Amino acid sequence: MESDRLSTRLPLHIETPLVDAFDISARSRKRIVLKMECYQPVGSFKLRGIGLLCQRSVEGGKRALVSSSGGNAGMAVAYSARRLGVKATVVVPASTPKSTLERLSLLDAEVIVHGEAWDDADAHARKLASEATAAYIPPFDHPTIWEGHASLVDEMAASGIKPDAIVLSVGGGGLLCGVLQGLERNGWRGVKVIAVETCGAESLHQSLKAGQLITLPAITSIAKSLGARRVANEALLRSQRHSVRSVVVSDTAALDACRWFAYSQRVLVEPACGAALAVVHESHASIDHAQCVAVVVCGGVSVEAVISHLRKYGSRDAEKNRKVRPS
Ligand SMILES: *Cc1c(COP(=O)(O)O)cnc(C)c1O
Repeated sequence: MESDRLSTRLPLHIETPLVDAFDISARSRKRIVLKMECYQPVGSFKLRGIGLLCQRSVEGGKRALVSSSGGNAGMAVAYSARRLGVKATVVVPASTPKSTLERLSLLDAEVIVHGEAWDDADAHARKLASEATAAYIPPFDHPTIWEGHASLVDEMAASGIKPDAIVLSVGGGGLLCGVLQGLERNGWRGVKVIAVETCGAESLHQSLKAGQLITLPAITSIAKSLGARRVANEALLRSQRHSVRSVVVSDTAALDACRWFAYSQRVLVEPACGAALAVVHESHASIDHAQCVAVVVCGGVSVEAVISHLRKYGSRDAEKNRKVRPS
């Protein structure tokens, strides 16, 4: 449709609020601000970079967009394709939960179940995208994706709030590359970056320690959106150049932070996002010297793990509250 083609000139992502977290600010005696990427269409920052790459692909003549992510990256591709008036195909392995297939189908994506492991699905996606009118859209390792993610920092700069430190989660390092690029293009090179992973998904942490790219043998964390066995090469290089501080938190710390966030901000986010929130929730030493800390609330659509955690802990908390109530 003509209207679809015209809309391709506007960004697909939205400008998100930067809000003060008063409870945690009071507790930690510093200003904590939240960049609410959870409010992006389809629930995560992914739309910034992936939306831009999809847009450029369609401008370059592509009529079909192919992804192999059943997670937030696949959702961003499906949403972008729909907005741009082209076809989205998402190839996922047989182990993919039904809820994921449903989520993608509701965005009109063609979902193809192929192979047992993600590698099989990804190989098939790349094969489908070898057609001249199709484009393979990777989840994190692409310069256009980083360029798009950098818009998050542009918005912070425009808001007039300059933090001393930015806290963010790392999966494959696309968000990290984008934020570092955003700092650079806004003249904010002095802002500290704290890159958070969960234990069992700490591919950046291991790589920084070794001084070279490390491939994890397996992902054992529940934070599936952080589950890249190896980060993008550029994520390692840029981290070394900027002296990024790498922090690893437990799954439990990430879940506890999700729970705090749900009560504090009335928003449910994935454990992948809870990882970054855990740094401010637990007043981690990495933010000791910062007066103002911004957390990228990266969001995420898969909140099943958090819900089951809240169910388990909800009753335990009620129990605790009964005990402390004065008689
Ligand atoms: C993709 C994603 C991440 C990790 O981003 P990378 O660019 O792969 O480092 C973190 N949290 C959420 C919710 C995500 O969707």
